[in-house]
Amino acid sequence: MTRNPVEKTSLTLLGLGAMGAAFARAWLAAGHQLTVWNRTPSRAAALAAEGARVADSAAEAVAANTLVVVCLLDDASVEEALAGVDLTGTDLVNLTTSTPAQARARAEWARARGARCLDGGIMAVPPMVGVPEAGGYVFYSGSRELFERHHDALRVPVGTVYVGEDAGFAALHDVALLSAMYGMFAGAAHAFALIRKEDIDPASFAPLLADWLVAMAPAVHQTADHLRGGDYTKDVVSGLGMQVAGTPTFLSTAEEQGVSPELLTPYFELMRRRLAEGSGEEGLTGVVDLLAR
Ligand code: NDP
Repeated sequence: MTRNPVEKTSLTLLGLGAMGAAFARAWLAAGHQLTVWNRTPSRAAALAAEGARVADSAAEAVAANTLVVVCLLDDASVEEALAGVDLTGTDLVNLTTSTPAQARARAEWARARGARCLDGGIMAVPPMVGVPEAGGYVFYSGSRELFERHHDALRVPVGTVYVGEDAGFAALHDVALLSAMYGMFAGAAHAFALIRKEDIDPASFAPLLADWLVAMAPAVHQTADHLRGGDYTKDVVSGLGMQVAGTPTFLSTAEEQGVSPELLTPYFELMRRRLAEGSGEEGLTGVVDLLAR
């Protein structure tokens, strides 16, 4: 007995940069009928050879399917690419990186043109696309109904994490995680600078650094617990008083090693301010409140 194959959603993708092309290949490989458009047409040629239909204009691409995914450089390029295009009845999924305010405004803009809108923030780099074990995903926010309706297609390139009806939440989650990542990179840069001029092999040092960062990362759960419960001293093992008392050692070591302390000092300053107005029994959670004022 043969079973009817499940019909795959036919969709449109605008934007064939590094990320858009990776998404396109994942959908084509999974058997989705895909119409593509790119401002520079030559970038579509390789995908045409792989089975994509190439539209001559953004308007033609949008008219080809109800589900239209947009993966362009920035919010301004979305505005430019879709200017004058009829979006009536379109299910617009905007994966272009933007700020929360831009995402909300873009969703309103799309709704005013008769489209439904879902915003996405991509937590992956192109080599992770189409490779489930790589762990990449997209944060989605906006219409839950739209997310559920198109989930079978949206989950093909990378995983999906829906974070709420507010169209700005995907962008906010995206930027929040990437901001934390830059803080981690900043710390790693300082650590490598400290050993830079010594007879220490960076390749031997790197696994020690990576393992330490992984061991410390679960501290974010205690921060969340503090922020929810309001008691910033709960289960704290390294009090702020002790930590601030230790900061001169970090600054003196940087000086001894001829390393600029410029990445450390802003954080130490916040720790000192919190200690001056709070309790030395707290951990580092109070810094969140100093920043969010
Ligand atoms: P690329 O720079 O590789 O591609 C940019 C795309 O945007 C191209 O298709 C380009 O067209 C198009 N574009 C730029 N300006 C305009 C415009 N004014 N009108 C129409 N099209 C325009 O970027 P990526 O593909 O890497 O990134 C796409 C999105 O994905 C970005 O928002 C990025 O932040 C996000 N992202 C990317 C990641 C990555 O590692 N690459 C990781 C996570 C998110 P053309 O070919 O004509 O120049």
